[in-house]
Amino acid sequence: EPPLLTVTGLTVTFPTPRGDVRAVDSLGFTVHRGRTLGIVGESGSGKSVTSLAVMGLHTGARVTGSVVLDGRELTGLPERDLNRLRGRRMAMIFQDPLSSLHPSYTVGEQIAEHHRVHFGSRRAAARRRAVEMLGEVGIPEPARRAGEYPHQFSGGMRQRVMIAMALACEPDLLIADEPTTALDVTVQAQILELLARLQQERGLAVVLITHDLGVVARVAHDVLVMYGGRAAEQAPVDALFTVPAHPYTRGLLDSLPRLDDPDDAPLRAIPGSPPSLLAPTPGCAFAPRCPRAAAAPAAERARCEDTGPALTASQGHLVACHLPLHTDAPAPGGPR
Ligand code: SF4
Ligand code: MG
Repeated sequence: EPPLLTVTGLTVTFPTPRGDVRAVDSLGFTVHRGRTLGIVGESGSGKSVTSLAVMGLHTGARVTGSVVLDGRELTGLPERDLNRLRGRRMAMIFQDPLSSLHPSYTVGEQIAEHHRVHFGSRRAAARRRAVEMLGEVGIPEPARRAGEYPHQFSGGMRQRVMIAMALACEPDLLIADEPTTALDVTVQAQILELLARLQQERGLAVVLITHDLGVVARVAHDVLVMYGGRAAEQAPVDALFTVPAHPYTRGLLDSLPRLDDPDDAPLRAIPGSPPSLLAPTPGCAFAPRCPRAAAAPAAERARCEDTGPALTASQGHLVACHLPLHTDAPAPGGPR
């Protein structure tokens, strides 16, 4: 079966008074039905811009490349057609449900209205659908709670409302941008479980955007690690966690809290800051922070600083690095 979503050469540029900012550069990935792709990176890595570009919500940006949803090219489609696809074929949820919910309408009214607009359903049917969806996302007493306003819901319940609204029109693709970041750990786990269940039941293709590899480990099948607007590494989730190929991926893994001993091991955040997208260097964007390059002989370090590595297939990973880690022989004390 061909992928539901195929993104090729996606490049998103924002014109600014200080010059063009290339927020996403030549990105490519695919997502199949029933699969979850985790897109991971620090803030400013281009992951949210990517998701908005896929949805056709990139106000003020220049977008090139190709986004194909179920055989249909989306880039260049008129806003009217995109708007029809959003909702019915693809839907999105965000970190902060309050910003997407209207404070003075009940959640039932809002889900029903969304359904009516996209499906042309009658009011009574749309109302029934809203209650049904609230039940399906695990909100107790859905018929009663449909009559309540967003502020009457907890953060986790509000995110459930957003998921209900997103799925009310039976989209094939769900994009979730940091859906659990604002929630405490227990609620976060419940929402991730819910997303995984709905995804399985409905055969959804999911793109999950997060800064947290821990979230990816719980729900993703495949992972795309972004750095400075580009793909640093792409791999199936197990391969990424067991034999990371890119030094940046390794750094992200090292900064995860240890599940076996969460009190021990202070988080080792990656020192340094993300690259400037206004003044990109000719070399690898990670070079100024890369322990691998710092430990390499001068000639190899010079290559890192002067020449951007191309994304290359290697041992089941795609990796953009001159000195990928996973090709090292496992030697204790050797370079990691
Ligand atoms: Fe580090 Fe060089 Fe690989 Fe970039 S190309 S990640 S600087 S080793
Ligand atoms: Mg973001």
